[in-house]
Amino acid sequence: AEAAAAKPGLLGRLMGRGAAQPVVRRTLDDEMLEQLEELLISADMGVDTALRVTANMAEGRFGRKLSVAEIKQLLASEVSRIMEPVARPLPIYAKTPQVVLVVGVNGSGKTTTIGKLASQFRAAGKKVVIAAGDTFRAAAVEQLQVWGERANVPVLTAPEGSDPASLAFDAMGRAQEEGADLLLIDTAGRLQNRGDLMEELAKIVRVIRKKDETAPHNTLLVLDATTGQNAVNQVKVFQEISDVSGLVMTKLDGTAKGGVLVALADRFGLPIHAVGVGEQIDDLSPFDPDEFAAALVG
Ligand code: GDP
Repeated sequence: AEAAAAKPGLLGRLMGRGAAQPVVRRTLDDEMLEQLEELLISADMGVDTALRVTANMAEGRFGRKLSVAEIKQLLASEVSRIMEPVARPLPIYAKTPQVVLVVGVNGSGKTTTIGKLASQFRAAGKKVVIAAGDTFRAAAVEQLQVWGERANVPVLTAPEGSDPASLAFDAMGRAQEEGADLLLIDTAGRLQNRGDLMEELAKIVRVIRKKDETAPHNTLLVLDATTGQNAVNQVKVFQEISDVSGLVMTKLDGTAKGGVLVALADRFGLPIHAVGVGEQIDDLSPFDPDEFAAALVG
């Protein structure tokens, strides 16, 4: 009970102890709607999305007395409705190797997510190759090697500071020769110099297209749930410097409930392929809109 109290859902915060009494009724009036809006905004849902959600909730119900349980259900179903269209696992293409470029700021969970994905695909009988494309961070390369060992997947590396595009090119060749199903390419996450990163990513794309003009088949942006509204900015920036095709949100196992995902879904409509729910290799789950909405509303 203490853990639950440490991580109250939205309505828990609005209703206080009333949330534990689902029969308590409140009138869905302007004051109530305003409180709801503030709550949704404070949960990183963004102003536009929060306003739309509360407007939808009020439609046809304004002035009615609703029980806490009914308000919860209403809010959860509005959130689910926004999230359902974006809840899509990573698409698997017939063309192999399927090349997945993984982008995101340092610390977002790229390395960990690549390890988890490799393990999942390996367990599904796929042949996977990892390219440790963040050649500027020796620690990231080492970490990826550890994940590769755990997942029993080869990790291709290059000397520290060397050209990531050249590694990606070699990895592409190796994946093709070995008949791999999936090539996961890690990338650097230094946003301090956006221009450099953009050039680096563009060069990786250019060279892998020399071996397969349809690659990369996915560009996965990894976002950290604990960064809240910052995630909106990260999507904007990475859309400018790469061809983001889908999202993974990590660290949803912590106190962050990932309300920003609702803003992201509403605003960008990018598929959410998976969510990170811990630091272990199996802690990557498909995104479940109903479960997410229920946890958010609480
Ligand atoms: P990178 O710099 O983007 O490659 O990030 P890492 O994969 O190294 O992850 C940064 C930190 O976040 C590490 O301590 C990971 O264990 C941790 N981490 C990654 N994903 C998750 C997750 O889903 N849940 C939790 N609790 N921690 C995570």
